[in-house]
Amino acid sequence: MKILVTGAAGYIGSHTCIELVNAGYDIIGADNFVNSSMEAIRRVRKLCGVNFPFEEIDFTDKDATEKLFEKYQIDAVMHFAGLKAVGESVQIPIEYYQNNLGSTLSLLAAMKKHDVKNFIFSSSATVYGAEASVPYNEHTPVSRVTSSPYGNTKLMIEYILKDAVKAIPGFNAVLLRYFNPVGAHESGEIGEDPTGIPNNLVPYVARVAVGKLPVIHIFGNDYDTPDGTCLRDYIHVVDLAKGHVAALKKIEQNCGLFICNLGTGKGTSVLEMVKAFSKSCGRELPYEFAPRRAGDLPAFWADPSFAKESLGWTAEKGIQEMCDDVWRWQSKNPNGYRDADA
Ligand code: NAD
Ligand code: UDP
Repeated sequence: MKILVTGAAGYIGSHTCIELVNAGYDIIGADNFVNSSMEAIRRVRKLCGVNFPFEEIDFTDKDATEKLFEKYQIDAVMHFAGLKAVGESVQIPIEYYQNNLGSTLSLLAAMKKHDVKNFIFSSSATVYGAEASVPYNEHTPVSRVTSSPYGNTKLMIEYILKDAVKAIPGFNAVLLRYFNPVGAHESGEIGEDPTGIPNNLVPYVARVAVGKLPVIHIFGNDYDTPDGTCLRDYIHVVDLAKGHVAALKKIEQNCGLFICNLGTGKGTSVLEMVKAFSKSCGRELPYEFAPRRAGDLPAFWADPSFAKESLGWTAEKGIQEMCDDVWRWQSKNPNGYRDADA
């Protein structure tokens, strides 16, 4: 099976390329590098020992997308490409809708023309409503509108894919709702490389650990949780990548619409995460409590039982391994991929 991996140079795409190649799939990587670098592809090729084809392409460009489907015989699309910064999406919503919806629609149009019927989409736990009770399972209602334009693009793309399954005979759409991906490949050669000051907790903590930022700000310590800080379901990116390989098996069985959470089922607090990372880097990391961040939910985590039943997949790596792997990546690459690009 030949798989087009969009967003292949990005954080989750790069780790998934390795797991796909290891599982014996042929891949074609593609990215426009709006939030990534060619160095990630070079390293992925080296780590998996295969010089797979790669194309620099913007998937909002319908003609370029169409040409890619003319050039390669493609059996399935794994669609990671997208803009993902929640805060930025509030500032520039039009760009987010244009990029995330536009790229998905170009792909679906090219797939329709070339009779490609398998699509795996990177959705998010953000589609569940703020009123939903935890843990979230796949029957938990999705929100009518999420807390950000970014989240709304995920919700809208889910609707587009549901309609495509209804309208196109034999079309398979797998919607994978990720919880909080963290961690890095155990080699320390690839990992998450945000530009500027990170918004997410673990990349921020990693920058403090490597001395690039002075102190961690913990947003809120008065939540109704065991230690007062928010709980999230952090999942190791390699486990997440393996979840995609498992999902391909479902596609091979012509699943039609298939919706599945990818999480661990365990909530970890911000304070617990900071402590685990301190252990990984061998020093107590400085932190201070700050006001709550607007829009944050106190606590949510996945019910991962459907993933286990239907895909035979469960996350295996715990919090300490996630932090150890991020620390290996960050300490080996204090400037991310930028040094290699220079
Ligand atoms: P990332 O930014 O590291 O990777 C996305 C990649 O897509 C980048 O390499 C970027 O250059 C590329 N890209 C963006 N727009 C493109 C376009 N129009 N054409 C071609 N390439 C384009 O992000 P990630 O963390 O790897 O996330 C991958 C996917 O998973 C995204 O769709 C994201 O929304 C989703 N997701 C991520 C998280 C998370 O916390 N990381 C959680 C839930 C869902
Ligand atoms: N968080 C924090 N300090 C930071 C970044 C995040 O305390 O610098 C908290 C945030 O309030 C949330 C948790 O860490 O409770 C996870 O936040 P992240 O942005 O990583 O993920 P998401 O908001 O998408 O769950």
